[in-house]
Order: sequence, then C-alpha cells, then structure tokens
Amino acid sequence: MTLEVLTCIMIFISGLVLGSFYNVVGYRLPNNMSIIYPRSHCPNCNHELKFYELIPVISYIFLLGKCKVCKKRISIFYPFFEIITGILFLLSYFVFGLSMNFFISITFISILLIISISDIRYYIIPDEVIVAGSIILLIEFIINSIILNTGIINGVAIPLLNGLGSFAILYLFKAFGDLVFQRESLGGGDIKLLFVIGLVLGFDMSIVTIFIASFIALPLSVISLIKNDNNVLPFGPYISIAAILVLLSNLDLNMILQFFTK
Ligand SMILES: [Zn+2]
Repeated sequence: MTLEVLTCIMIFISGLVLGSFYNVVGYRLPNNMSIIYPRSHCPNCNHELKFYELIPVISYIFLLGKCKVCKKRISIFYPFFEIITGILFLLSYFVFGLSMNFFISITFISILLIISISDIRYYIIPDEVIVAGSIILLIEFIINSIILNTGIINGVAIPLLNGLGSFAILYLFKAFGDLVFQRESLGGGDIKLLFVIGLVLGFDMSIVTIFIASFIALPLSVISLIKNDNNVLPFGPYISIAAILVLLSNLDLNMILQFFTK
C-alpha cells in the first residue's frame, strides 16, 4: 500500500470518528448537557453503549441498525453523518493537500457540521462553537502566515476584517428584513456564523455563499408555504452546504464574473 493511500484512509477514518463526536456535541451543547457524561446510551432503553457499539459505521452494520438490548432501530442518520464527515475531510485533502489550508478547511467544515446538527434539532447555533471555532481558525491563520511568510496583515488582519465585514452586512440585512416583514427575518446565530464564513472564504465569497444558500433554501420554503405549516426553516444548514461548496470548489468572484461576462 502506498503512503498516499494510507494517508487517505487515515484522513477518512479521522473524519468518521470526529463526525460521530460532532453529532454528540451538536446534540448536547444546546441542551446544556456535558459532552462527556453521561456516556452514550440508547434513548429507548437507556442501555449504556460499550466501546464496540460506538465504532463509527462498523457498529451500525454489525448491530444491523438496532439497539443490542431492546432492538429499537437506530437512525440511519448517524452512520450517514459520519460518512459525510469522512468524505468532506478526504475532499479537503484532495483540494488542499497536506498543508495548513487543509487544517483550516477541516476546522471550518467541523464548525459547519456541528452548528447544522444543532440548528436542525433546536434552531440554535451555539455561541460556544462559533467562539471556539473562530479562535482555532485564527491560530491556524497565524501559523499559516508564519509558514508562508505572508505577514500578519495579509495572513490574519485581512481575514479578520473580512469576517467582521460579512457579519456587519448580514446584520444590516437582518435589520432591514425585520423592518419589512415585521418579524424576525434571520436568526442571530446565522449572523454570527457569517463572521466565520467571511474569515475563511473572504468577504466577496461570503456574499456569494448567502446567495447560493438562499437559492437552495427557496424551493423548500415554497413547499413549506404551500403546505402551510408554520415551521421556521433553519437557515444554518443551507449556509453550511453553500459554504462547503464554495470552499471545496475553490470558487472566487472573478471566475463567476468571467462566466457571466463571457
Ligand atoms: Zn435500547
């Protein structure tokens, strides 16, 4: 087996393991539950899971998707989410190679995955994830600017300004939306999330991200309107999908402008 294949397998497995952990974090954090205690258990019979029942994907297959004790079905979402995390980590490696940008990419993706879990389940984007994630990203930016010798201004200050700019634009957008629709048009969490997106993708591409996210969310909002259920759609997962698309396709604004002015 070549080193390249081995690296890919290691990265994929790290994604599976971390994906399993992110699911727990996204589920427990907004509930003010400890991430470590209680140990993972079956929600139906409270059977505490042994280590061999906690192996990502593999345990699900061997347990045939059922709790060992009460035989209650385990949601297919768990292994699915773990595999998605693994694939996104692997794609980060294919796009950025084993560079600091790779670590920035998987940190960014991890933040987006955790907040998506929380937003889907509770309509909450936890501040803790935004703050801790931003600090880790800034440290990675500092290290990257030292390695690449780009200087603190280009490597750290400009991304920081991009983050603040994206945050400010969406904040104004929300204030305007609230005024027009006379109700909360965007969640506060979505605005804070835009800080992280501007930090990593830059100001221009954070705006493109919002457009792509709205485009993906639009058909679903229309269906929700027609069905007349008053469910608020969490916007965080759509922003996350759009941001990951922009990140991994390495899109920049010039490419988009060229496409439309051709
Ligand atoms: Zn059970």
